[in-house]
Amino acid sequence: MPIMIGPPHYEQMLHPVIKKNYGKWLYHEHVKPGVIKHVSETGDEVYTVRAAIPKIISVDFVRMLCDIADRYSDGYVKFTSRHAVEFIITDKNKIDPLIKELESKGMPVGGTGKSYKPIVHTIGWNHCHTAVIDAPGLAKAISDGLFEYFKRNDLPAKLKIAIACCLNMCGAVHCSDIAIVGMHRKPPVVDDEIVAKFCEIPTTVASCPTLAIKPKVLPDGKRSVEINPERCMYCGNCYTVCPGLNIINPKYDCLSLWVGGKVPNARSPPMYSRLVIPYLPNNPPRWPETVEAIKKIVKAWIENAREDERIGEWIERIGWEKFFKITGIPFTDKHIDDFIFSIRDFRTTTQFKF
Ligand code: SF4
Ligand code: SF4
Repeated sequence: MPIMIGPPHYEQMLHPVIKKNYGKWLYHEHVKPGVIKHVSETGDEVYTVRAAIPKIISVDFVRMLCDIADRYSDGYVKFTSRHAVEFIITDKNKIDPLIKELESKGMPVGGTGKSYKPIVHTIGWNHCHTAVIDAPGLAKAISDGLFEYFKRNDLPAKLKIAIACCLNMCGAVHCSDIAIVGMHRKPPVVDDEIVAKFCEIPTTVASCPTLAIKPKVLPDGKRSVEINPERCMYCGNCYTVCPGLNIINPKYDCLSLWVGGKVPNARSPPMYSRLVIPYLPNNPPRWPETVEAIKKIVKAWIENAREDERIGEWIERIGWEKFFKITGIPFTDKHIDDFIFSIRDFRTTTQFKF
């Protein structure tokens, strides 16, 4: 064995049938919502059963999943990049009882094929200091609003949604069909006393990607910084290194909605999402305006897209002008990119500053 310095190798935890057929899988097919059949050239078959769960789970919840895995999938369980849980079943007679048990325990089975998939999201107010929104809470509200699309296979194509609770976009939202980004809209407020006491000035200045921060000397000789609001793009990087530059502003912070992203595959290049709604109120705990806006876009896509057209591909075919017309979303000056700072960083455009 090579010396292991990272996490354990997944091979040590593979289901025996998966291990036996490694690299020999011929094809897979969609059996019904939440169930995929995989067929190997050796003749072996396995079934994946996918259920939606929260990203943040307790030990009790993990124990419950392990108990289910022991009884249905030979003690093996898998988590997907979209925060779903999957059980690999070799005995197809166990599929329906497993679905029944998962659903009775509050874990709906679905999200496979041409359906609405579980949301990829960041951590939000749980433990990030720059978060505009409670991303997991918003994910739950959107999932409830789109639940009718989770257990089916007849959408035009798959529907993927992602949430980032600030401009840092830990959630890689630019490649999902619909993306929600939490937006700060004012520069950080400088607290000279905290900056002087706790912050290293060169590090704080260097933390700004747009060179908006410069050092200043206070009348008593102590050192602080000042921010050029024209250059600031409200990213919050400086707040990460210096607690004296608070960027959280509940009065102005908001949500923005982006559509049309898609990760590349063998047939097509990546598509990056574009801004469609620059301002939605940050309205916890259920964000009704955001959920309604997403439902409206999804409905327009379902009614107008051709088979296999992801949202971005649909918009590319009909044009953005028609997209705004069909969805009834107003087109504003915020959608026009001014490219002022485009050489250094595209994020400093009108689309992030308003
Ligand atoms: Fe924190 Fe921003 Fe990442 Fe959310 S997207 S976890 S607020 S850095
Ligand atoms: Fe610079 Fe971002 Fe801080 Fe603004 S919020 S001053 S752009 S690091």
